[in-house]
Amino acid sequence: MTYQNFSLEQLQAIDSAHHLHPFTDHKDLRGAGARMITRAEGPFIYDLEGNQILDGMAGLWCVNIGYGREELAKAAYEQMKELPYYNSFFRCSSPTPVLLAQKIAELAPKGLSQVFYGSSGSEANDTALRLVRQFWALEGKPEKNRIISRRSAYHGSTIAGTSLGGMAGMHGQLHGAVPNIVHVMPPYAFEEAKPGESDDAFGLRAAKAVEDAILEAGVDNVAAFIGEPVMGAGGVKIPPATYWPEIERICRKYDVLLMLDEVITGYGRTGNWFAAETYGITPDTITTAKALTSGYQPLSALLVGDRVADTMVQKGGEFYHGYTYSGHPVACAVALANLNIIEKEGLVERVREDTGPYLNKALAEAVGDHPLVGETRSIGMMAAIEIVKDRNTRERFPGDGSAAVLIRDHAIANGLMMRATGDTMILSPPLIWTRETIDTACERIKSALDAAA
Ligand code: PLP
Repeated sequence: MTYQNFSLEQLQAIDSAHHLHPFTDHKDLRGAGARMITRAEGPFIYDLEGNQILDGMAGLWCVNIGYGREELAKAAYEQMKELPYYNSFFRCSSPTPVLLAQKIAELAPKGLSQVFYGSSGSEANDTALRLVRQFWALEGKPEKNRIISRRSAYHGSTIAGTSLGGMAGMHGQLHGAVPNIVHVMPPYAFEEAKPGESDDAFGLRAAKAVEDAILEAGVDNVAAFIGEPVMGAGGVKIPPATYWPEIERICRKYDVLLMLDEVITGYGRTGNWFAAETYGITPDTITTAKALTSGYQPLSALLVGDRVADTMVQKGGEFYHGYTYSGHPVACAVALANLNIIEKEGLVERVREDTGPYLNKALAEAVGDHPLVGETRSIGMMAAIEIVKDRNTRERFPGDGSAAVLIRDHAIANGLMMRATGDTMILSPPLIWTRETIDTACERIKSALDAAA
């Protein structure tokens, strides 16, 4: 059966009849029908009607090496022929996940040299949550089990992922959260900084919210703090430079583990292999997924620091946790080919030294003083545009993000895939974008804003 035998309308009708989409209001979808993406090449995706769209979101923050890479298809094919599946349970292993674990350990910040695999970022965060609580239980402190997170955080859609996350809408539908998770303010200066407060001072105040939460819960009750180095789905909220070093200091002071969720930032997006390096911190765990395979296969890797791993290995006995697809050999083969491309093409350095700073400047120049824009900001290849009704007062449009949705729709119609989160427009393109691609994207963003003004 090939989709070419179907018209767009037929596929949309089947989609409506049988396919429940993630994060979708199906009443909307059934009116308009879904855009059918049928193929992709380099930085572009193509829909069934033949429209070419520049993918400003790298799929869902994941296709770092762009589309259509033969090497990854070959790696999957070769691995499938030789060993399509075997697990790492019960004293078995297979070479590909082993070699990938070694490669990840080589790229990771020093001290994080062990890897636990899953198939998604959500699974990896579930693993991380169980692991840190088990760590403290093994250390003889089972009551040290609370986790501090932030409002607006996104850590996945499983029950644990949603409980860890801080999105109000998701919590509203949780109907039974994982207990002992506390949420504090995010380091979001655009909305949370006081008039006249410097960025650095705000960063320290946002970090202090974490310290206050630790003290309120009682130091002996807090297992860990979890955070995305740069909040992604919550609106590319980039913390001030003072924030993460202060968080690290607080965590060390109270012996609270530091868990970084690098599902978006891992493997190059901020201009280093891991954002832990960008912010100069050493966490106890790092959750990664997405760009590990550039989205060509589902795979996540939880990087576990020596302190936690040593306790697990030496005092742990069996950890009753794992997934059928933990260390799936085909996904791991694709990950190795993907990391090889990122290295060979110097994509991380390119983001750090060239395209990251260029994106920052080009976006500010293109739309920084547009009447609908309250702020542009970016780090590496992650950017946000705050949509406002009034630039001076930062008053938002009524309608809970509907202005941003309108601009997003104009952008897509103009050939640029973007995302709107609340009142924030987001860009998170493949790392293969050049200065020219960035210029094209900025022109399209400006046209979309003009069309909506
Ligand atoms: N953590 C972060 C920071 C994410 O952005 C995401 C997904 O967007 C997840 C976790 C969940 O990953 P997945 O969708 O692979 O379960």
